[in-house]
Amino acid sequence: MDTLIAALRSLLPHDSVITDPVRLRTYECDGLTYHRATPGVVVLPGTAEQVARVVRLCNDFGVPFVARGSGTGLSGGALPREDGVLIVTSRMRAILEVDLADRRAVVEPGVTNLAITEAVRDRGYYYAPDPSSQQICSIGGNVAENSGGAHCLKYGFTVNHVEACEIVTPDGDLVTLDRMDPGYDLLGAFIGSEGTLGIATKITVRLCRAPEAVTTVLAAFESIEQGGQAVSAIIGAGIVPAAIEMMDALAIEAAEAAVACSYPEGAGAVLIVELDGPAAEVERQFAQLEEICSAAFELRVAADPAERAAIWKGRKSAFAAVGRISPAYIVQDGVVPRTSLPAVLAAIDRLSAEHDIKVANVFHAGDGNLHPLVLFDDGDPGAGERAEVVSGAILDLCIEHGGSITGEHGVGVDKSRYMPKMFSADDLDTMQLVRCAFDPQGLANPGKVFPTPRLCGEVPGVRKGVHPLVESGKADQL
Ligand SMILES: Cc1cc2nc3c(=O)[nH]c(=O)nc-3n(C[C@H](O)[C@H](O)[C@H](O)COP(=O)(O)OP(=O)(O)OC[C@H]3O[C@@H](n4cnc5c(N)ncnc54)[C@H](O)[C@@H]3O)c2cc1C
Repeated sequence: MDTLIAALRSLLPHDSVITDPVRLRTYECDGLTYHRATPGVVVLPGTAEQVARVVRLCNDFGVPFVARGSGTGLSGGALPREDGVLIVTSRMRAILEVDLADRRAVVEPGVTNLAITEAVRDRGYYYAPDPSSQQICSIGGNVAENSGGAHCLKYGFTVNHVEACEIVTPDGDLVTLDRMDPGYDLLGAFIGSEGTLGIATKITVRLCRAPEAVTTVLAAFESIEQGGQAVSAIIGAGIVPAAIEMMDALAIEAAEAAVACSYPEGAGAVLIVELDGPAAEVERQFAQLEEICSAAFELRVAADPAERAAIWKGRKSAFAAVGRISPAYIVQDGVVPRTSLPAVLAAIDRLSAEHDIKVANVFHAGDGNLHPLVLFDDGDPGAGERAEVVSGAILDLCIEHGGSITGEHGVGVDKSRYMPKMFSADDLDTMQLVRCAFDPQGLANPGKVFPTPRLCGEVPGVRKGVHPLVESGKADQL
């Protein structure tokens, strides 16, 4: 490591290499603070060429490296390696180009999600994917996680809004993956690969035109079942709102304590429904929505942008707000078909009672993406373990109902153990084949996503022979 550090210092400006043990601790975890490791060394490159040089050096030394944006990830994806280099993109924050004629912007990976919208808002444009962490999270992290957000129901996830990425490959080459490239969809493979296929150094994003009209509605229901039924009815009626978010009574209590959002008193669940588009269409959809939400005991419509922001304030602050009512909590992320929402929520209730662990539900209801917040007192012996059991059982429920172990927070280090429950050995084997094609040495963010890290060339999993894709000539084993 000492020789590597000396080599890094010769490649990068003096203040771009961090080895001071106290400063290294800043980087020991991401938003999932349960997993921690002190990085061997942290580098803060200022250019793509510097990133490439660092990665090439890691290859020369056979040392693993992990990319980090803003460290808001919730699955331990940016967890560093004690024997490795953490490459942090926070100094790469330039918006390089805004091309409104082609509705594109070209940005460096450390640019925050919200900064893109702020750069074009005055001219009537915005960047659509909006994670609740959008004020801080980086676009590089969004690409790596294929991040979503409240408005992804209508507009799609990061993968639908990225046109091209310049990346440093795991062996240190600087290449561009473009949606227009013929052949394999390498850009599609890269987005959501959680830093295992290289490091994004320049990202071309799609810009959307701000809609003509926006109507934001808060519907308060006595029970979460009524809220869940309204979600299915809205989509069933052919309406695709920009967002449908739901919070249960416990999540509302937390949000009230944190930001005094003044949601209707006594609500068992609130739905936030945002309609946007041409004014005439929004007006017609609102009339339908009023009818569908007839079981709501209060329907509040934002009269202006300030009231809209007030409605969103409770939802956007919900994760952090839970800290007001519980000393510790796990943020879970799973997906179920919308129609299973009432059954799954009832089952979560039962799990909560059975293990004496409270669960607050906040979620992107429109796309069935649950974010149960599993609350526990870390001072109470055994509570953390019970919370882990509930959290894992929620993922089992998602799989049983035909859903997924992650909607948008990724697999990282946290959920790799659940991958074999959702994917067969052959599926995992095929994913590994893709990973090895990009990273034969296995140096890019090793130990993440896959249940047991394997080296390329090893016979993976249960398969003993040549992979069927290789045998058929459809893929190469590197
Ligand atoms: C309060 C809160 C609310 C959140 N709400 C949402 C939400 O609504 N929707 C949602 O999807 N997520 C949400 N998240 C999760 C998180 O913000 C996203 O996953 C985000 O995209 C992470 O970005 P980051 O810059 O913090 O990445 P990091 O945490 O630094 O890294 C995340 C992963 O990306 C990799 N990575 C980082 N930069 C690069 C790069 N340039 N090239 C290649 N790989 C890279 C890392 O190795 C790691 O695997 C939330 C998190 C918090 C704390």
